[in-house]
Amino acid sequence: MVHTHLSEEESLLKSTVGEFADQVLAPRAADYDKSGEFPWSNIRELADLGMFGLTIKEEYGGSGGTSRQLSIVAEEVARGCAATSTIYIAHLSLCTRFIQLFGTIEQKRRFIPHLAKAETIGAFALTEPDSGSDAASMSTSLTQANGKYRLDGTKHFITNAEEATVFVVLATHDRSLRTKGIDALIIQRDTPGLTVNPQHGKMGIRASSTAEVVFDGCPVTEENRLGPEGKGFQECMEVLNGSRIAIASQCVGIAQAAYDAAIAYSKQREVFGKRLSEFQNTQWDLANLATNIMAARLLVYHAATLMDAGQPYAETASMAKLLASRVAVETANRALQIHGGIGYFAPTIVERLYRDAKVTEIYEGSSEVQRMIISRGIFGDV
Ligand SMILES: Cc1cc2nc3c(=O)[nH]c(=O)nc-3n(C[C@H](O)[C@H](O)[C@H](O)COP(=O)(O)OP(=O)(O)OC[C@H]3O[C@@H](n4cnc5c(N)ncnc54)[C@H](O)[C@@H]3O)c2cc1C
Repeated sequence: MVHTHLSEEESLLKSTVGEFADQVLAPRAADYDKSGEFPWSNIRELADLGMFGLTIKEEYGGSGGTSRQLSIVAEEVARGCAATSTIYIAHLSLCTRFIQLFGTIEQKRRFIPHLAKAETIGAFALTEPDSGSDAASMSTSLTQANGKYRLDGTKHFITNAEEATVFVVLATHDRSLRTKGIDALIIQRDTPGLTVNPQHGKMGIRASSTAEVVFDGCPVTEENRLGPEGKGFQECMEVLNGSRIAIASQCVGIAQAAYDAAIAYSKQREVFGKRLSEFQNTQWDLANLATNIMAARLLVYHAATLMDAGQPYAETASMAKLLASRVAVETANRALQIHGGIGYFAPTIVERLYRDAKVTEIYEGSSEVQRMIISRGIFGDV
């Protein structure tokens, strides 16, 4: 297939990872979903393909790729296995990118080469039980006494936390300062006082792990600091803006997988003496889905292109995530409807995609938060 909007190199990347998704990820996805087991084999094989170093600078063991390339890879991985793409994005575009952007040379040398090969797994811990969309209201605290710092508090819903040995953690040294009181830290798994409690029962992306992370008097030194004091929130928003493009790509991948399943089923299922694909209702449904998916994909590429060019891209990234997550949810819903009753049963792919899609309207900033960001661009801070 010719992708007119992609360069030759990008097309090659898409077909290489696409083949991997078709041949390796997709056949395993139902079993991983059922068992909820962390898909180590997928992670190892993606690492062997060099995908965990995709956007990492060469000097730290990566291939120095672009945001557009990450969009291509995240879409294809999600098309094969949405849970694997969640793990991949949290690791690379949240945790590792944070360290690459704001770490000292020493921190980058110490952590990134291992993260870039997925020899160690990374997590990003912002959300708390009482602080989600309003992230600046966090209560995880960094306090100083007798010349020593300690970290106390609870983060929850943290992707990869069970497997991670490296955590990027956001904490406040002064809640009254709101965003200006927040610091970013690198915390290692073996830090005394750190415990991880798995959170079970997710609706979808079940093979990705999600956990609570408790910090109880964890000792922290200046070496743990990621960027200057009081700049953590600003850094965090920059990282999230970029990562939202990867999540939007994940949405396009989920939508594409649901659409492909709907086409295949409609060509095979006969009702009232005709195949479903012969009914105009089905054809028009699929025409609408194809249009939505293409629009979402092109908006994702547009946001990534702006980011790669060093242009302002935050609002476009939010638009991409807002649109693409809606397209993922609507496409999965429509694809399930086209399957009729069988679509309601596991292990049809549409039953899984319907569950996988929903989270994309919630994490990395819910759709309401994306609308807030886009509105701020229109009206300013009113
Ligand atoms: C599977 C999964 C994995 C996750 N992984 C991570 C991770 O790795 N790291 C991490 O830090 N977090 C992670 N999260 C957390 C996720 O980012 C938050 O759940 C999300 O930001 C929403 O926060 P909340 O759940 O506290 O909802 P709330 O902030 O309590 O929001 C509840 C509802 O109110 C809406 N709302 C909020 N503010 C407004 C407003 N001003 N106007 C109108 N509506 C509003 C929200 O959109 C939402 O619909 C994960 C979540 C899930 C489900």
